[in-house]
Amino acid sequence: MANAASSITDLTRADNGRHMLHPFSVVESTSTTPPMIIDRGEGSFIYDVDGNAYLDAVSSLWNVNVGHRHPVVNRAIVEQLNRIAYYKIFTDTSNIPAIELSRKVMQLAEPEGMAKIFFVSGGSDAVETAFKLVRQYWKLEGEPQRSKIISLKGGYHGVHFGGMSAGGNPLYQRAYEPLVPGFFQVERPFQFRNIWDEKDPKRLATLCAEALDREILHQAPETVAAFIAEPIQGAGGVIIPPDDYWPLIRAVCDRHNILLIADEVITGFGRTGKMFGSRLWNVKPDLMCFAKGINSGYVPLGATAVNARVEKSFHRDHPLAPLLHGYTTSGHALACASGVANLKVVEDENLVENAAVQGAYIAQAFSKFAQRFNVIGNVRVKGLMGALELIVPPGGNTQIAADHPLPRAVQQGCLKRGVIVRNQLGTIEISPPLNVSRSEVDLMLNALEESFIEAMTNH
Ligand code: PMP
Repeated sequence: MANAASSITDLTRADNGRHMLHPFSVVESTSTTPPMIIDRGEGSFIYDVDGNAYLDAVSSLWNVNVGHRHPVVNRAIVEQLNRIAYYKIFTDTSNIPAIELSRKVMQLAEPEGMAKIFFVSGGSDAVETAFKLVRQYWKLEGEPQRSKIISLKGGYHGVHFGGMSAGGNPLYQRAYEPLVPGFFQVERPFQFRNIWDEKDPKRLATLCAEALDREILHQAPETVAAFIAEPIQGAGGVIIPPDDYWPLIRAVCDRHNILLIADEVITGFGRTGKMFGSRLWNVKPDLMCFAKGINSGYVPLGATAVNARVEKSFHRDHPLAPLLHGYTTSGHALACASGVANLKVVEDENLVENAAVQGAYIAQAFSKFAQRFNVIGNVRVKGLMGALELIVPPGGNTQIAADHPLPRAVQQGCLKRGVIVRNQLGTIEISPPLNVSRSEVDLMLNALEESFIEAMTNH
């Protein structure tokens, strides 16, 4: 295996930077420092072209929730491929996998009050679709001036113009400005570090809800269309809000008659130890954005769901009622077939429960790490989303410099030990597949522990 693969390795590595622009990359370094080239996967493991095995403790990009090459998902894709790979679902045609997946997701999201689903090709599309449906909704409701979107600092809503403008990290905006007008951000509920230096979770939840309320009043409520946020911020560093936060936010939206969009692209379908992130706090959003865990990334897929309040509007006898939005690959048959199979696996293998159980175990281990390694300032774990935030020791909440060698050494130490973790600007993040086993979790924890010891000795 290793020998056969290595004969193509040099050519492949050299070609990588020659022809391809990588997402989120420094273009020069794709040639000078070629990435690991992944050849195959199995369960929680991936294998590079040199035959090295790695525990994929990040599920690629928080998304391969049922693990790699799951036989049930693979079989469903092949079976569909042998019927038809794809046919449009615009206007006058549909396909069986899209119908089945719409039924399944709507059944799962019934407690959240979702009524209908619109299929797209990924998370950024799901967010863009939510914004467009929201604007259309208000036009149909006779309040066309409601167009503004409020979101959270530190939030991530994809890379399209709307989602980027709603994003709360200027790093992803500066090169692509100007942003779309009408997007505004408020403070996020981050207990470890916030502008009020408020540690009390109840008080922080109230302060954040008041900040949203103030911004809505400042903008004039009759001009605000929706508030969007991730139930738990993912790319922003696994920011788990206080328990009171989401109910208070729902109440603020209700008070001003503003729609609430839950961006569940990461948190959807079990990642947090509940089927949806919104369910952690029993919040009923008006719209939900899905991608990633809906089909574990086997084929590109995303979706936007709307509740009955929003859906009803599109039945109006109004010149702007038709949905003049959609993607060529909306409802792609292979993608939807993989989604149906993926959600069957999530249910049949009790993956939501496994995420909760393994997550609780990881949380305990991470707390012990924090006691032992004074460079860990904050531990955040919910289900199988986890973060170890590194600080300037011995205490306090001053973030370690983004270019400090220590977090990188921890990540590289794990890699050397065959475990992939993420180093997101000095915060070590993990998000293993939802069917990760206890022994795989132990492998990850041992690699992290040894890597922290090694990195702290050397830096
Ligand atoms: N929303 C959230 C919360 C995300 O985490 C992401 C991707 N990380 C997106 C939207 C965008 O999804 P995609 O990369 O599939 O376009």
